[in-house]
Amino acid sequence: MEVKMRNVTKQFGNFIAVDNLNLNIRDGEFIALLGPSGCGKTTTLLMLAGLYKPDAGDIAFDNRIMNNILPKDRNIGMCFQSYALYPHMTVVENIAFPLKLRRTPKDEIDKKVKEIASRFHLDHLLQRFPGQISGGQQQRVALARALVKEPGMLLLDEPLSNLDSGLRISMRAEIKKLQKELGITTVFVTHDQTEALSMCDRIAVMNKGKLQDFGTPEDLYMRPKNLFIAGFIGNPPMNFLEVSYIRENNKVVLKEEYFEISLPQNVERNYVKKQSGDKVILGIRPENMILGDEEPNTIKGEIYVVEPLGRDKLVDIIIGKNRIKIIAPQNYKGNMGDRVIVHIDLENIHLFDSIDGKSMR
Ligand code: ATP
Repeated sequence: MEVKMRNVTKQFGNFIAVDNLNLNIRDGEFIALLGPSGCGKTTTLLMLAGLYKPDAGDIAFDNRIMNNILPKDRNIGMCFQSYALYPHMTVVENIAFPLKLRRTPKDEIDKKVKEIASRFHLDHLLQRFPGQISGGQQQRVALARALVKEPGMLLLDEPLSNLDSGLRISMRAEIKKLQKELGITTVFVTHDQTEALSMCDRIAVMNKGKLQDFGTPEDLYMRPKNLFIAGFIGNPPMNFLEVSYIRENNKVVLKEEYFEISLPQNVERNYVKKQSGDKVILGIRPENMILGDEEPNTIKGEIYVVEPLGRDKLVDIIIGKNRIKIIAPQNYKGNMGDRVIVHIDLENIHLFDSIDGKSMR
């Protein structure tokens, strides 16, 4: 099912929860609605489900306008964080229920329920009631129930948030695999960027009701369009330093009170030109710096704190008035208070306009 949202707006009183949203979702695509709490993700999902009506704009499924179509007639499966199972029905009855409503033949119901229960590791729980299984297991039953009738679109609102971290990682893979096998258009609401990046074909990042960007995980990570996306996608987040953009003898130099970096020509030509003296924001991801010896284009700093994270170490460094974070190898030996030299991978820097926050690419 192909989904189009055209200039969709939803208000609650004077408050604009979703502001002029345009989104084209391809048939079979798995997309995430990602953003901080209150940015309008769930409101968007509920409009797709038909539980909220847009105040302006259109929603179309396969080019058919759905604004006035009831939820039950939209051919969608839903699994919300608080989606309740029928407490008086066993797990198997819960999963089979949507098929029973459709008067599916019994042997077909049995086959489909068995198949999906096995995928969601529910085989041993089929005869239990929802009150007799854990929250995480209930969530898996709700997912199985949403998918068993093979809807045209699956809507998921934080479906993994009740699961413990191990199960969440294995369910991530299961849902991703299942979504591709079924080829079902899926919209997944999450505030967890790892879930969105790891599972989805494209991610719609929202902030304060507005779409910030809609792109593949790689697009958003490698070529963030603005400071919001750059700071939101990536964990630990991108470091930002305000610098002066200076033209010197045909070269561009980024200057700050405590350092200066001369941009190689092949890097500089990726960015729009600024007036010499303009302020710009230099963005560097923690994994795009290493700690080493003094050379041209390095920055001097002092270690504020070192956080061992198991696989690597997060090193917090003071540079003048700024603090930045660097990912260092697990065997890095630096300590609090040490003076260090920071090398930047200049091929992987990001430059943003300091006024409108847009990428200068
Ligand atoms: P979260 O991750 O916290 O669930 P969200 O991005 O899903 O956030 P929404 O639930 O879509 O956010 O809410 C967007 C904004 O609209 C919030 O500020 C919320 O308080 C407001 N809002 C949502 N539903 C209603 C409602 N029924 N009445 C009034 N305001 C609402």
